[in-house]
Amino acid sequence: MIIGKISENEQIIKFDAKIHCTNCGKQVPGGLKTGEKYYQTQEFKIELEQFLENYLCGQCRDKIRNKKK
Ligand SMILES: [Zn+2]
Repeated sequence: MIIGKISENEQIIKFDAKIHCTNCGKQVPGGLKTGEKYYQTQEFKIELEQFLENYLCGQCRDKIRNKKK
């Protein structure tokens, strides 16, 4: 999964985060990518935090989507 932005010809930073589904609590593989310039900026930290706070696994995402129908 990509967080933030990666510009063309930019070095890609790969990192691991502990990602848990916010609905069922299941841990999911946390392989994430971002651009070298974006990594460690304040903007990046906020985006990562929000991503982790709102993350839903595929199953829960489907469940919620189906409920809305
Ligand atoms: Zn889930």
